[in-house]
Amino acid sequence: MKERDTLHNFLFEHAAIRGDVVHLDATWREVLKRHAYPAPLRSLLGELMVAAALLTARLNFEGSLSLQLQGSGPVTLGVVECSSERLMRGLLHWTGDVEAGTLPQLMGSGQLVITIEQRRSGERYQGVVDVAGDSIADAIECYLAQSEQLETRLWLVANAQSAAGLLVQRMPAQDEDEDADAWPRVVQLADTVKGEELLGLDAHEILHRLFYEEDVRLFEALPMAFRCSCSLERVQNTLRMLGHDEVLDIIAERGSVDVTCEFCNQKYVFDAVDAEALFADAPVSANPSLRH
Ligand SMILES: [Zn+2]
Repeated sequence: MKERDTLHNFLFEHAAIRGDVVHLDATWREVLKRHAYPAPLRSLLGELMVAAALLTARLNFEGSLSLQLQGSGPVTLGVVECSSERLMRGLLHWTGDVEAGTLPQLMGSGQLVITIEQRRSGERYQGVVDVAGDSIADAIECYLAQSEQLETRLWLVANAQSAAGLLVQRMPAQDEDEDADAWPRVVQLADTVKGEELLGLDAHEILHRLFYEEDVRLFEALPMAFRCSCSLERVQNTLRMLGHDEVLDIIAERGSVDVTCEFCNQKYVFDAVDAEALFADAPVSANPSLRH
């Protein structure tokens, strides 16, 4: 098995078309290790991970991109986050038995929420689309067509070992001599890609197989990795928001406050001493519910 965990950008030399190829390997298995997903949901989450990685490739600032699925069931929630450093985490919530099906069959009526956050300014952009089409790729294509008026096509695939994907996007034409037929031709060629090719071949092999008569420039591999952004500090802040009395009540009842991060299963445990320390430098009046 090839260990890759890479993102490659590429572009067509004689047409206003760009693209990306993503392979998630150890990154993806770190996600699978933490929760046992039924096979249809494993595919769904893998595709969502790859889609987030492909979309993050277009961020030109430090920040993060998240994709959130909100469904009426069996899948009720899906969250995938990817930072501009290409560090990812993801999870799905579901209820009951799940059988293979289209995206609407897996999540009922629902929405896809795309959030992009700039780290430095804290600026946040959020787009919401009703889930349309049969797959994550369809939903993302629909979102990009609506929000950016950019024609984009995605091919996504995931199994128990790897998840992979290909994106091509038509950019505004730069000059009139440009090859006008390039976009339909590139889409038609890309559409012949097979799931096993995306999973098994390296980026240059995929591009060569699909576009061997085209002039394609493939850029260097950029690394991808699993990383959860949870931290002791964040959990402490959440507990401070909950308030001194509430936290002490829980400890009186259960002996400790246990917080488990759902993305990475990291457990944070606070006993009475930890709790007092938590509020020692944050007076009770800092509790939002006690202000006014
Ligand atoms: Zn975590």
